[in-house]
Amino acid sequence: MWIFLNDRFVKREDALISVFDHGFLYGDGVYETIRSYGDRLYMEQEHILRLFRSAESIGLSIPIPPERWPELLHEAMIRNDVGHARQDAYLRITVTRGAGDIGLDPALCPSPTVVIMAKPLLPPNESLYTTGVELIVASTRRNLPGALSPQIKAISFLNNILAKREAIAAGAFDGILLNWEHHLTECTTSNLFFVTDGRLHTPALECGLLEGITRTAVLHLANARRLPIEEGRFTPAHLYHADECFLTNTTMEIMPVAVVDRRQIGDGKPGPITRVLRKLFRASRGGFQNTTEP
Ligand code: PLP
Repeated sequence: MWIFLNDRFVKREDALISVFDHGFLYGDGVYETIRSYGDRLYMEQEHILRLFRSAESIGLSIPIPPERWPELLHEAMIRNDVGHARQDAYLRITVTRGAGDIGLDPALCPSPTVVIMAKPLLPPNESLYTTGVELIVASTRRNLPGALSPQIKAISFLNNILAKREAIAAGAFDGILLNWEHHLTECTTSNLFFVTDGRLHTPALECGLLEGITRTAVLHLANARRLPIEEGRFTPAHLYHADECFLTNTTMEIMPVAVVDRRQIGDGKPGPITRVLRKLFRASRGGFQNTTEP
């Protein structure tokens, strides 16, 4: 495996960073996850833009300009023999404040650490798209937007990891995080949608959730299809009584949800609107072909 580290590609065993890196010491950094369909990166510009927006929000200046990123990401795929007709790629970009003395002042870190990893994309088991997954509502709350904006894709993921631990302990696929007002936000690495009486619902951004790139794509598709959409404040009770529910993110695309807190959603199978949106999503990838689909 070849890793891009700061200014060059190095072998995995040589991809080492300092124990003084503020990413390690304080979780001070940002990241992005991107996937390819064959050799084409999906929504590449949107991901690069979000990376730069996240960095700007924390006053972190990324030393590589946006226009160089497509070439670097492409090289990361080629060097790791992924992102081609036989294997879709999963790319993880991490940019931290860099190494500096112990202390919170970012000025202690003269140069950020930049890492690009590329590996085979491992999509969820195809059977989950047929059965739907099980969720719980976690007791861990989503970070207060005033404490750490969910729009910043921060590497400090403890909030989400605590919710994921709860889900794992309950034998569920993932956990839904509520906000400070007991309203639904999102899951640990995906956005949440549900359908009631033919209307598509998703928690509004002001509830405190990441504006997922897949979420935006699904909202566009639903809009083009003239599906009624409600972005708002919803409680777990709204979800329990929904007819359908699904999750969205870059690697899963659209994942149906069958059960929430041991309650069956609708008839417990992927519903008609979920299926239509999934079909539209796959068609909307245009020239993007998923090489890992059966
Ligand atoms: N919400 C959270 C907390 C995430 O970490 C992610 C993806 O990593 C998403 C939502 C989905 O975002 P996207 O569709 O851009 O992958």
